[in-house]
Amino acid sequence: MKIFCYGVLSVEEPYAQAWGKANHVEVGTTSSELSADNAELAKGYNGVSSKGITPVTEGAYATFEKFGIKQLAIRQVGVDNQDLVAASKHGITLTNVASYSPRAIAEMGVTQAMYLLRHIGVYQERMAAGNFAWDGSTISTEIFNCTVGLIGAGHIGGATAQIYSALGAKVLTYDPFYDAALEPYTTYTDLETILKEADIISLHTPLLPSTKNIIDAAALKKMKANAILINMARGELIDTQALIDALKAKEIAGAGLDTLANEVGFFRLKKPYAETPKDFQELNAMSNVVITPHVAFFTKLAVKNGLEIALNDAKTIITGGRSRHAVN
Ligand code: NAD
Repeated sequence: MKIFCYGVLSVEEPYAQAWGKANHVEVGTTSSELSADNAELAKGYNGVSSKGITPVTEGAYATFEKFGIKQLAIRQVGVDNQDLVAASKHGITLTNVASYSPRAIAEMGVTQAMYLLRHIGVYQERMAAGNFAWDGSTISTEIFNCTVGLIGAGHIGGATAQIYSALGAKVLTYDPFYDAALEPYTTYTDLETILKEADIISLHTPLLPSTKNIIDAAALKKMKANAILINMARGELIDTQALIDALKAKEIAGAGLDTLANEVGFFRLKKPYAETPKDFQELNAMSNVVITPHVAFFTKLAVKNGLEIALNDAKTIITGGRSRHAVN
């Protein structure tokens, strides 16, 4: 059996080859993300896998169909760059990896919150200017004295609830889907209460019409002046200009962002700083904002799990089985 993988990161390569050896499968790889232009690379392979954000159009699925390929195993959660209808039309079953390491993303959110809570960015900016003094403006709070508000508590929000709970924080959750398994770690409440009471607000919902700009100017105005906003989910959950305005007006105390609404086109790429979006530059210049380029998932375990779960699905479908991770 032969499986071809697109969009393979250098850190994925050893896991890909180890999986191939253990499963007696020849694994071919390219770092290029899948598109209709490079689907031909899969010629002679029994199955395919991909990862990335490049839009995949019908031509890619048509090429796979021509080669007798029946599946495409996506090594990530998001399939928003795929055309599920076109894939079905060409008999391609798409699978995704809905959960590869929720702790990876949860830990990045907590890390950014603690960085902001202890004003580390402010100290770094001051020290770079030769100012090693400190004053009342940076006096902090211990995490066990904080109220954390989670908006969305599925895989990642649930893992986040467990970490904050273990640190002694009071954890409130707003999620229309109640999960009894999280009761030991959090108290379910409404969105208003979270906005008004939380010292740290952490976003973990998918991007949906109901969650787009869930943090807008009105929501920001309801938050406490000491509130820290963390977004590990999708940039579009926040109205970016409203966030910039709220930070400038000191309506909230800081923001930790692993995603931005306009990140496609520069996150994960090398790009001259001057060519990055102005709102990114404005946020990045603030010492009470920390931004990372959509890397919350990027741990060894997450990369390994993402690859192995996807390739196991590919093998299952190639050999005539069904995957519970099918998305079309
Ligand atoms: P999940 O599906 O397990 O959980 C999402 C939760 O959000 C669910 O419990 C759902 O009920 C809840 N929800 C839906 N609509 C809501 C609303 N209007 N208000 C409040 N809660 C709502 O998803 P997950 O695995 O926890 O991932 C969450 C998001 O994190 C993903 O959709 C993705 O956008 C993002 N993500 C980011 C990274 C990264 O590296 N930064 C990696 C993986 C996922």
